[in-house]
Amino acid sequence: MFRKDTHCVYNPPTYQGVNTPIFTSTANRYLGQDEILYPRNYNTENQKVIVEKLCRLEHAEAGLIFSSGQAATTTALFAFLKSGDHVLFSKEIYGGTAKLAVDEFSKYNIAYDFVSAADLSTITSKIRPNTKVIYVETPSNPLLSIVDLKAIAEIAKKNNIVTVVDSTFASPINQNPLLLGFDIVMHSGTKYLGGHHDLCFGTLLSSQSLIDTIYKSAVNFGGSLNGLDCYLIERSLKTLALRVEKQNANALQLALALQERPEVSKVFYPGLPNHPNHDIAAKQMKGGFGGMLSFELSDAAKTDDFLNRLQLIIPALSLGGVDSTICQPATSSHVSLPESERQELGITNGLLRLSVGIENMEDLLQDIDTALKG
Ligand SMILES: *Cc1c(COP(=O)(O)O)cnc(C)c1O
Repeated sequence: MFRKDTHCVYNPPTYQGVNTPIFTSTANRYLGQDEILYPRNYNTENQKVIVEKLCRLEHAEAGLIFSSGQAATTTALFAFLKSGDHVLFSKEIYGGTAKLAVDEFSKYNIAYDFVSAADLSTITSKIRPNTKVIYVETPSNPLLSIVDLKAIAEIAKKNNIVTVVDSTFASPINQNPLLLGFDIVMHSGTKYLGGHHDLCFGTLLSSQSLIDTIYKSAVNFGGSLNGLDCYLIERSLKTLALRVEKQNANALQLALALQERPEVSKVFYPGLPNHPNHDIAAKQMKGGFGGMLSFELSDAAKTDDFLNRLQLIIPALSLGGVDSTICQPATSSHVSLPESERQELGITNGLLRLSVGIENMEDLLQDIDTALKG
């Protein structure tokens, strides 16, 4: 009924106060009740309030909130998989998602392939009769590649395959994959939804029937969240649209400025017209292209000096918060990959991944300028 920025703020008038009270009880009276309230039943008031808000933002019928993004991913996958099944992952995917498949799937006799999701013909050729799930991420980490969600959803529907997208980098403000035909949206709420580098959670949003299926596994896997954290999420979501709008604007300006610098050889940002998937990004994202960008220093040997000279932007892992943070994927998020695999993915030693915050644009530009000049 309302628009997104209003949905972020507005709570339907259930209580006299404008905010939801924090319900801490794990023991709840059961006599005469239809439903047993319990955090791991995913049905406490604080969980419900944020799930309903996220459903409005993602145009979902139902959802679940988890204690980490990884708990959401694991639950989504294992809810639909059994021994003998096969999963297709897009090649450019969060390290933890890839690690889950590599470390765990063989124990359960589940096969998988990583495919370049940008190349639809490869996807079609990799589908097997036992392929049950296609799992993609867009924009991707760390090179901000874009997957054509509508095209992949169409292929999957023809083959009766469940589609899941990790939409963390876009947030529900910049992208609504369910409207493009995807079945399930996953977010690591630790990033933009939380937005202040102080919460760890995840969410799955989908149709009522798919959430009913996932729910049965979610109760068994037990990755639920407590009321206190849920309340902090409710508070964070109030400013989600405001934060992301500022991050979109800051990131675009920084990407344009970095492109002009001789010390920078490449800039990866889906909002730049020269980004290889800019057309698809412009079609499927709205409001902006997100607060994440990557760039490559012309002289990779200067990476440490550059990071050490920054005064405002914090060399730190994780992303999506109000503070700008930066990391060198080759020595941090992707350090466990062999050098050859990193090169194949395009993760060079000079590559830096910047999560743009809500600071003043001029201060960010100045910080980068000083650090680049050395
Ligand atoms: C952080 C992240 C995850 C994992 O989420 P956690 O909350 O750390 O468990 C998954 N996907 C993407 C894109 C992420 O950035």
